[in-house]
Amino acid sequence: MKVNKAEIVISAVSEKQYPNDALPEIVLLGRSNVGKSSLINTLINRQHLARTSSKPGKTQTMNFYQINDIFRFVDMPGYGYAKVSRKEQQKWGQMIENYLLNRENLKGVFLLIDSRHDPTEDDELMYNWLKYYHLPTHVILTKFDKLSASKKKKSVRQLLEILNVEADTVIPFSSVSKEGSETCWQIIQSKIAD
Ligand code: GDP
Repeated sequence: MKVNKAEIVISAVSEKQYPNDALPEIVLLGRSNVGKSSLINTLINRQHLARTSSKPGKTQTMNFYQINDIFRFVDMPGYGYAKVSRKEQQKWGQMIENYLLNRENLKGVFLLIDSRHDPTEDDELMYNWLKYYHLPTHVILTKFDKLSASKKKKSVRQLLEILNVEADTVIPFSSVSKEGSETCWQIIQSKIAD
């Protein structure tokens, strides 16, 4: 898809602020610092629409990015950030859960996992939760450029083993080499056309 228009329409902190229309949405989930903002910027070919940071945990809002006025990315606050209080984590847990289970606009889920490490307990919980509710999920293995050729193979294999993911729903991705971009776009196109 050629992106002519990309804008952040709302950084929401409550359900009342969600856009009130029928545009399809693709949601991005993952630990803080996993590369969600970088993925959005890479896919839409802009350097800085989504804020990237080397400091984890900065975004505690649900950011709705509208693309070509035909669909939106919804960037969720990253989970597993220790410095956020337990109360705050619970609040976001409930909001994310509520969005995922009730939002009619939701057409697809990208769960981002750092390819350099085994999936964390939080990643596993999130993936199993998504599977339990039959949400249409793809797992994006981020920062793939940082791995050597042998580690790349190992990373995919371990993910398949640990999470019991179907191989065709795993996408190695790099915002540096742009590997995986086309596959992500194909998935987005098919989801938003449904
Ligand atoms: P977010 O918190 O999930 O939105 O993560 P960001 O997109 O802000 O990325 C966190 C850090 O990881 C930043 O320093 C990015 O430059 C870096 N990063 C993200 N994706 C990649 C990637 O594919 N390759 C490399 N080498 N670095 C990445």
